[in-house]
Amino acid sequence: MKLVNFKGIHPFTKKLSVGIDVTPLRPMEFYNVPLKVKNIAESEPAVQIGDEVKQGTLIAKPSGNFGINIYSPVSGKVLNIFSKVTLSGEYAKHILIMNDNKNEVQDLPEIDSVSDVTLISRLREAGMVDTISGMPTYLKYAYVGGRAYRTLIILMDSTDLNSSTNQTLAEYKTEEVINGAKYFMNITSAPHIIFVFTEANRKLAAKVKKHILDTKKNYDFKIKFIPNKYPFDDPYILTSLVCGKSIKKGNSFLEAGITIENAESCYNFCRAVEFNKPVTGKIVTIDGNNAIRKGNYFVQNGVSIENIYDFIGIDDKETSSILIEGNVMAGTAQYNKDISVSLTTDSLILQKFDEYDAPKEYPCISCGKCASVCPVFLNPKNIDNAYLNERFDEIPKLNTHACIECGCCSYVCPARRFLTQRIAAAKHYDKTSRGAK
Ligand code: SF4
Ligand code: SF4
Repeated sequence: MKLVNFKGIHPFTKKLSVGIDVTPLRPMEFYNVPLKVKNIAESEPAVQIGDEVKQGTLIAKPSGNFGINIYSPVSGKVLNIFSKVTLSGEYAKHILIMNDNKNEVQDLPEIDSVSDVTLISRLREAGMVDTISGMPTYLKYAYVGGRAYRTLIILMDSTDLNSSTNQTLAEYKTEEVINGAKYFMNITSAPHIIFVFTEANRKLAAKVKKHILDTKKNYDFKIKFIPNKYPFDDPYILTSLVCGKSIKKGNSFLEAGITIENAESCYNFCRAVEFNKPVTGKIVTIDGNNAIRKGNYFVQNGVSIENIYDFIGIDDKETSSILIEGNVMAGTAQYNKDISVSLTTDSLILQKFDEYDAPKEYPCISCGKCASVCPVFLNPKNIDNAYLNERFDEIPKLNTHACIECGCCSYVCPARRFLTQRIAAAKHYDKTSRGAK
């Protein structure tokens, strides 16, 4: 991937909620835990209706090679196991648990070494998933051997406008984050860790560096910076910036020997290894121009969108709001309040609806802006045109599969064309038609 001309874009000037420590969301009465995270296989219930559980009791386990262990987010009673819709719009089993407010906790068994085999096994046992893709983290290391990776990148920051989970953890849970990074280093053959920050967080980088030196951590590390421009933390762009290596979309990071983790996965890994804590929730940035209680919260798995709405509090009740899961550039609006937050929810943004109230597009004026901001050098206008006019044979030729769905083209388009959505659909068409051959 070349990045000669691409400069990133910065649609807003300021993140709204940086620098707020992580606080737990208030306890809820019910938790409806989904047994499927994004595209991974659905896990099978390991409890029955009526069972008493503690926070940390295993409630579901993999049904095949790709599921994950899922743990109860709360102590209470299993009220129901049933199918309902998830954040990704698919149906999956959920386990409904009523909180008994006893706060009883069940930890993982202790481990007796930090060898690579034990650590990979702990990743699996603790139910850790990639917070973006939803892939079980252990899969990356177990099936190919962690030693296949020679470069370990830890993203300590984000160029997303509304997500500040990683930098908040780096700031307030520094010890856990850098210990977790060391455990990732143990399972790879990387000679050092590369901690990556945006230019905006140089002070935080200095703090992390000082912490590592003061506490005499016995490992080599480097600190690198990327511009604070969206979407420079996309894995393909990040790799190009940090390692000078271009990985073509669809090609494996493994082949290049590169693995990318973030501050949150390091934090979770440290908690699983040193405190025997399984993953029972996710740190979520709650933000938006119509939200009252902005900040970074530890949100337990299975909390409903409705509960989140109640918690956030609407600033201007006269203006209707929209809740976006993910960032404002590429997130998904959530209209159904009876959906549970999952282990990949990074941010929830409550925006005034008036900014999104013109779902109408106009004819393309061929201004070229969409192509000028595309970080992977596609021509969004041409893909849009080919897809709309059913010239499907052109879709692969336009390199559509390389789209990272960042939303930059839609953001700059003066005709407000639904470029990202249509390119995503074209990408899906391209993928399924390739699969069919
Ligand atoms: S959404 Fe896809 S086509 Fe549009 S700018 Fe991003 S990468 Fe390019
Ligand atoms: S930015 Fe919009 S109007 Fe301009 S060329 Fe692209 S699709 Fe057409």
